[in-house]
Amino acid sequence: MFKKLTPALAAELSAFVGPANVLTEADQLEPYGHDEYSLRDIRRLPDAVVRPRSTDEVAAILKLANEARIPVTPRGGATGLCGGCVPVRGGLVLSLERLNRIVEIDARNQMAVVEAGVTLHDFEKAVAEAGFDFPPHPGEESAMIGGMIATNAGGSRAVKYGVIRNYVRGLEVVTAGGDILHLGGKLLKSSTGYNLLHLFIGSEGTLGVITRAVIQFRAKPALTRSLVIPFETLESAIEAVPLFFERNIVPLALEFVPLDVLRITEEHLRRVWPSHAGAVHLFIILDAADEAEMDRASQAVAETALETGALDVFIADTPAKQENVLAIRSKIYEAVKAETVEILDICVPRAEIAAHVKRVREIEAKFGLWLPTFGHAGDGNVHTHLMKARYVDGRFVPLDEKIWRAAIEGIREEIFADGLARGGVISGEHGIGLVKKRDLAKSLPAAQVELMRGIKRVFDPNGILNPGKIFD
Ligand SMILES: Cc1cc2nc3c(=O)[nH]c(=O)nc-3n(C[C@H](O)[C@H](O)[C@H](O)COP(=O)(O)OP(=O)(O)OC[C@H]3O[C@@H](n4cnc5c(N)ncnc54)[C@H](O)[C@@H]3O)c2cc1C
Repeated sequence: MFKKLTPALAAELSAFVGPANVLTEADQLEPYGHDEYSLRDIRRLPDAVVRPRSTDEVAAILKLANEARIPVTPRGGATGLCGGCVPVRGGLVLSLERLNRIVEIDARNQMAVVEAGVTLHDFEKAVAEAGFDFPPHPGEESAMIGGMIATNAGGSRAVKYGVIRNYVRGLEVVTAGGDILHLGGKLLKSSTGYNLLHLFIGSEGTLGVITRAVIQFRAKPALTRSLVIPFETLESAIEAVPLFFERNIVPLALEFVPLDVLRITEEHLRRVWPSHAGAVHLFIILDAADEAEMDRASQAVAETALETGALDVFIADTPAKQENVLAIRSKIYEAVKAETVEILDICVPRAEIAAHVKRVREIEAKFGLWLPTFGHAGDGNVHTHLMKARYVDGRFVPLDEKIWRAAIEGIREEIFADGLARGGVISGEHGIGLVKKRDLAKSLPAAQVELMRGIKRVFDPNGILNPGKIFD
């Protein structure tokens, strides 16, 4: 049903964006054939990469591709972990990298207007320089605003301040047919018909191409403090989590990490984590308006953790100490990436994490693969890593490929089944993309998936936008 890009169509694209921004040579295409999902199995080169500089150029490209039935895969920073921006049906990769202008930082409305290709790094910097804060933070700062919106990105601070959906106030979107929609605006409220804006958040490039966004920011927390709390067992660490909330302690971030994973990252970065006690650590960031409030919150966290079996409480309160623990926490994936097959990102109700992680331990024993599990304990978003190596006596021991490949499907199936049975979802923040497409039908009622298909048909009748993602 889809057509290949012909030289004549490539020439038309060149007329829109300039020849330098239509890439067709194999070595130019190679970097655009994958994202951060670790297995090479899913790689696929597009016929061409096209790099527009304006919304009008995006509209012209889509109109042409729609008429010619050429698939178009939008691409942001390619930091996705489930193959979302991989052009599995060939055609065009539409890279947003040149739509990278921060149009406005509007302090009066506490909102920014930015193009979709602005990186998280540049956006955070601009917001911070204006004296404000933007909480959503996927761990990789080369992610772009458009990609973050298209995946409904979260990150560690979601526990207190929510995911990006809570910050998107307006969107400019180009539809498959090349029409430009303006949804929402610098508005805090709207009850004006169906909310199409929110339909595009988390739509993974399958409904339209986001070209510009109005993003809310907030006041900077006056003070932050990080706490590292070692526990003897995973169970005791995780069991402390719902107790914090029961006692009305809501940290800015609340993560759990096994010590072996911290040690691997320490070695990778040549940095030192504050404690090597126990087997699992809680990593907590608190924010507060003043020292008295911060001391009260720290005291409450420490008392609760000690009650449930914490071995100690380490406080990082200077900028250097905080930077050190944050750097180690945020580089874990980099340290284990070479040995990782897939990172799951199930989200369960917070109070179910302990039982879910216990079940992951049983599945680990049953299949004999190392499944280090850590993540955003505060919001129930658990990252189980499916590994192709074991970690024995301080070093990775690679497994035979046949062994890990034979185990992967069974492990995924049992972990997903447990998450769903606890009222969870198979993706809390990474999206479905290509890699979890085969799991979607098992995780949602058929009627819901059918409604999604119907929505897709309304926005993209010819199915050219990111085909092969979420569902077929
Ligand atoms: C080390 C590491 C840590 C991470 N930690 C987190 C985390 O804590 N929380 C979290 O949520 N994620 C995390 N991620 C995943 C990833 O960073 C996020 O999914 C991010 O939001 C993807 O943004 P991107 O610009 O890289 O998108 P891409 O990977 O380029 O694309 C992702 C999807 O969005 C679509 N898309 C991209 N741009 C547009 C656009 N302008 N219009 C329409 N569709 C578009 C693509 O087609 C694709 O389906 C992490 C990734 C890494 C590598």
